[in-house]
Amino acid sequence: MAQIHVLLVEDNEDNLDLMKFLLERASYLVSTARNGREGFDRACELKPDVILMDLSLPEVDGWTAAKMMRADSRLAQTPLIAVTAHTLPGDRRKAFDSGFDSYISKPINVRMFDIMVAKALEEKSKTNRREASS
Ligand code: MN
Repeated sequence: MAQIHVLLVEDNEDNLDLMKFLLERASYLVSTARNGREGFDRACELKPDVILMDLSLPEVDGWTAAKMMRADSRLAQTPLIAVTAHTLPGDRRKAFDSGFDSYISKPINVRMFDIMVAKALEEKSKTNRREASS
C-alpha cells in the first residue's frame, strides 16, 4: 500500500520535530510548513492525505488557513486535524466551524498520537463512504 502522506503545519520547532518523528516512526510520509500561508500553498501543491495544523501560526493563522483550504476544491475533502492547546469547548467549536474535522490537544501525548491520527483518517473515510452511498 502507498504511504499515507501527512502535511504538518506547525511554527514551534520542538513540536514539529516531535510530531514528525512520531509520524515517520508510524510509517507516514511527512511534509512540513511553518505558517498558515505556506501550509495552504504546500497543501495545494502536494495534495496530502491528511493535514495536521497548529492554530496559532504566523502570517495566516490555522483557523483562516482551514477556511482557505475548505473553500478550495482541491482540498475541500482532505481530513484536517487541529493540533492545539486551545481545547476549551468554545475553541473546539471555533475550530470545527473553520473546517477542521477533529483535533489533537497539546501537549502531544506520545502514546496517543498515532492512534489519534489513525482514528481521524478512519472517521473521514467513513464519512466519505457515507456521502458516496447517499
Ligand atoms: Mn503555534
